[in-house]
Amino acid sequence: MNRFRFARAHSPDAAVATVAADPHAAYIAGGTNILDLMKDYAVAPALLVDITALSFGKVESTPLGVRVGALAKMSDVADHPTIQKQFPAIAQALLESASPQLRNMATIGGNLMQRTRCAYFRDVGTACNKRMPGAGCSALEGVNRMHAVLGGSEHCICVHASDLAVALTAFDAIVHVHGPDGDRAIPLTQFYVLPGTTPDRETVLRHGELIEMLELRPSEYTARSTYLKVRDRAAYEFALVSVAAGLDVQAGKIRTARLALGGVAPIPWRAREAEDALAGQAPTRDAFVNAGQIALSGAHGHGENDFKIALAQRAIVRAFETVASA
Ligand code: SF4
Repeated sequence: MNRFRFARAHSPDAAVATVAADPHAAYIAGGTNILDLMKDYAVAPALLVDITALSFGKVESTPLGVRVGALAKMSDVADHPTIQKQFPAIAQALLESASPQLRNMATIGGNLMQRTRCAYFRDVGTACNKRMPGAGCSALEGVNRMHAVLGGSEHCICVHASDLAVALTAFDAIVHVHGPDGDRAIPLTQFYVLPGTTPDRETVLRHGELIEMLELRPSEYTARSTYLKVRDRAAYEFALVSVAAGLDVQAGKIRTARLALGGVAPIPWRAREAEDALAGQAPTRDAFVNAGQIALSGAHGHGENDFKIALAQRAIVRAFETVASA
């Protein structure tokens, strides 16, 4: 691990000012992702600013919904009765992530900011545009079974690692950030950016901006929702394909459907055209099959990961059938 400096922040303003003043500074909270990457030499911040003393650890109900502090632990949010009742897909996504030990350490903000699990990104002996812009992408012609079938570019085909972000994307969560230029509220659907020609840029956050909390709005489709994760083994594994699905069904017709996919794209993938196709339909298998085909209509594989397209289509059907029968 490279040498680095360490500082502890005792207020949001102090944290932001310290990181903003050093282009090579980074925040640390649970440390379950950044320390691994530092040990692999995949990232090398010169300064780590510990934000665990800040008061962003609560889950609170408000007249408009629920606020989840960025420093709330994954395990605490997954166990929170309001989240379990009003947002079951979010609770399931959290419980299907990582291991119990990691969930007890890792924070919600850190989960959203975690980096890709692409093995080349972590292997400094290989070319990776995300780690070193302009170096090339080893995955394009390499081992790409876990990689993207949607939203990739000729510069990067990684997939986003977070399960939580998939469920939050389906439900239009809002990310509240505090930065050197003030506060911003960013819809999660606009928070992540596709790799394009700059895979090293993953979010719209500016250097120094700090996630303070998430805002969630409950509805019929968040309460009637599920998160389905398909992976190579039953626990402590990242998604081959995942689906966050929600339905609001009134008088036998779908009033609103929500659908987001994980494991298939460099960002949590919202499938709006599939949602639109379901609106007004009866919640039948045929309607869900059609939604799955629409959601993956623009997908293409890279050889080893071609199977993800059919897998995602089937997972969408299964997730919606689960929700419809709930
Ligand atoms: Fe790097 Fe992205 Fe290519 Fe993986 S897919 S090697 S993260 S550029």
